Amino acid sequence: MNIERQPTKTKWHQTVTKFRNFPMVPRVVFGPGSFDQLGDILMPQRRHAEAPVIFLVDDFFEGKGLLNRIPAIFDDQIILISAEEEPKTIQVDALVAQIRKSFGATPSGIVGIGGGTVMDLAKAVAIMLNNEGTSADYQGWDLVNRPAVYHIGVPTLSGTGSEVSRTTVLNGPHRKLGINSDFTVFDQVVLDPDLTRDAPKEQWFFTGMDCYIHCVESLSGTYLNAFSQSYGEKAMELCEEVFLGNLNAAEQREKLMMASWHGGMSIAYSQVGVAHAISYGLSYVLGVRHGLGNCLVFRHLEEYYPKGVATFMKMQEKHGIVLPEGVCSSLSDQELEAMVQVSLGMEPLWENALGPDWKAVMTPDKLAGLFARI
Ligand code: ZN
Repeated sequence: MNIERQPTKTKWHQTVTKFRNFPMVPRVVFGPGSFDQLGDILMPQRRHAEAPVIFLVDDFFEGKGLLNRIPAIFDDQIILISAEEEPKTIQVDALVAQIRKSFGATPSGIVGIGGGTVMDLAKAVAIMLNNEGTSADYQGWDLVNRPAVYHIGVPTLSGTGSEVSRTTVLNGPHRKLGINSDFTVFDQVVLDPDLTRDAPKEQWFFTGMDCYIHCVESLSGTYLNAFSQSYGEKAMELCEEVFLGNLNAAEQREKLMMASWHGGMSIAYSQVGVAHAISYGLSYVLGVRHGLGNCLVFRHLEEYYPKGVATFMKMQEKHGIVLPEGVCSSLSDQELEAMVQVSLGMEPLWENALGPDWKAVMTPDKLAGLFARI
């Protein structure tokens, strides 16, 4: 997701606001089986035999056929990544150190094959290979000085929108925050719906709901504009077809992949809202993964998103998804306080959701009460 400030509606027609000039993914290939074009896509990017391509791959694919289809040649390396936990700055720094130690030359490219976690790691590693210091130094907005190494995103789960965003969200030593920069955006994305075929049902649902929630939060936010609306409405329509309609499995995969893309484009020029702000606190303290965290939070937000929550409940019921209860019931006061502080720190999200006077609406006490229900 993208957590940048956006001109508010009242400022929209005034010249005082600087409009965001954001980069989009310059090249994208879409279609079932398109993954097999990856070798051809990489070939012109290879500088020489000693500058390898590094493939970061979700370890879910260990022992599966996809690994044999990765076009690794010369000194290329495949690094399996566990997506059990949200990506961390120390994990990025360790990967960069490992790659630097293994190869004399800077890699020709980084390819992230997986869900949001692996794609975000690939973006961050590509940035850090060309920038000094630790990745935690770059958490924030436009702090990256030098362009990243060429990097490709290959989603194997649909919904996060990471494939189109200019951020890579990392858990750092002090906070969960994205590296938001023009250099974060992938140089190429490969959208092959067949790669999502074997996703476990719950993971498929939670990640898909991330997209649905992006749409609800973008479309009901105060930052909404025609750009965001046009993508958000299409993404929401696709989500409803996928999760409530009667599509066949292939159509479902294709449409959810495009829903994710459009949902990501929608928040690129608006912002997410209450569910994401609270979910950030939850995952910072408890390590809950993003898609699940959003679902845990969203079902309690009928006060803010009545129609969206009702539809979410229908989707959950249709797919027989059971969410854990009492996730925050045994938290210490200290942990609860940390969650509240991390959440309230997501100011643009609150402002988008509740307007400029959001602090009067979402007080620390009110937020603590919401966490208690989760
Ligand atoms: Zn999200």
